[in-house]
Amino acid sequence: MPKRVVIIPGDDAAPEAMAPTLDLLKSLALDIEFTEFPIGQDGVKQYGSRRDFHQALCRAIDQSDTTLFGSTNGTTGGISYLRWGKQTYANVRPTRWLPGFQSPLKQPEGIDLVIVRENLEDLYMGIEGDLGVLSALPETSVTSYLTKKPLDTTPVGKFAIKVITVQATQRVVRFACELARKRKARGGRGLVTCTSKYNMLRSSDGLFRQVAEETAREYPDIEYNQYIVDDFAHRLVANPSQFDVVVMPNLYGDLLSDAAAGTIGGLGLAPSGCYGESYAYFESAHGTAPDIAGRNIINPTATLLSAGLMLEYLGWQDVADRLEAAIARVYAEGQVLTPDQGGSSSTTDFCRAVKDAVLDSERRPGRTTPARQ
Ligand code: ATP
Repeated sequence: MPKRVVIIPGDDAAPEAMAPTLDLLKSLALDIEFTEFPIGQDGVKQYGSRRDFHQALCRAIDQSDTTLFGSTNGTTGGISYLRWGKQTYANVRPTRWLPGFQSPLKQPEGIDLVIVRENLEDLYMGIEGDLGVLSALPETSVTSYLTKKPLDTTPVGKFAIKVITVQATQRVVRFACELARKRKARGGRGLVTCTSKYNMLRSSDGLFRQVAEETAREYPDIEYNQYIVDDFAHRLVANPSQFDVVVMPNLYGDLLSDAAAGTIGGLGLAPSGCYGESYAYFESAHGTAPDIAGRNIINPTATLLSAGLMLEYLGWQDVADRLEAAIARVYAEGQVLTPDQGGSSSTTDFCRAVKDAVLDSERRPGRTTPARQ
């Protein structure tokens, strides 16, 4: 049975990274059946409406083993179905420096961490509303809190609800510990760090920390530590190589994984995979880069590395390793780089160089193992 992969190119500049990535994937001649969708605006036109486009995406996702997604600005649907519909609760965002990456740090050698972001809860549940609704409720801890604060009983403003549950925290922390174990088997440190704002948000983030601590005890072979999120942010920038696997609630994960990408050289280098019990999808951690759309200069490394995570998920670890090694080689040679990495090459030229390096490694199997830190 071939593996069935849905390709959703996304919006703005994202499709410019997806097209050559798909071309490279096809050149690997793996037993994969691709279902390709058009880019956002074209998809809406072709399917008649945003709703019909979205439904077609959901049907294809249901029939697939996995999805490779370009970023969306909202025109392309499907992302909420991939997350909440498929319950992909662990967003894995690796940050690994390779020689040739334009890091702003003096000593980026040794940066090799993975942020595991809880992907379904926290403020991302989108429960927002008028504050007046809260003050109209019968006496609860929320309403008594409002009257104690410098707000009158009919405050004009909005609220957003942050949700942290025991179950979701347990499963994402277990995921992080299992990942640390796998990395330890490949030479990693076997360390899980938890971070949240548990000193201020004692109830919600406090619960995240408490459950993380308890769950990590199930893994005596894995070292565990924790930092308040502002302290963690400082440490991440000052000395990122001290971290291995870091687990955190949704919003902090979104912000800090961009910061982590900054330590190795930017958003163009940051892949991601979102994993559930029975489905996973893959996309770069960056957005649609609208400011550089149409110029063929978007750095496709994040998309290529996301495709590598996808190949690993589908069982082709050796091919994923070869792809990563090919990317590493192109950066080490430094001849064909996109502008964000100090080069002047186009997206397609960069992908061609990576493709040549992959095909070359097929002919010279001794050169395929990526150097792990
Ligand atoms: P989102 O909120 O969806 O994450 P965003 O608007 O915060 O998106 P991005 O689209 O990620 O931001 O872009 C932020 C900046 O980084 C932009 O200047 C963009 O051009 C740049 N950027 C993002 N990804 C890449 C890439 N792959 N290659 C080069 N530049 C990139």
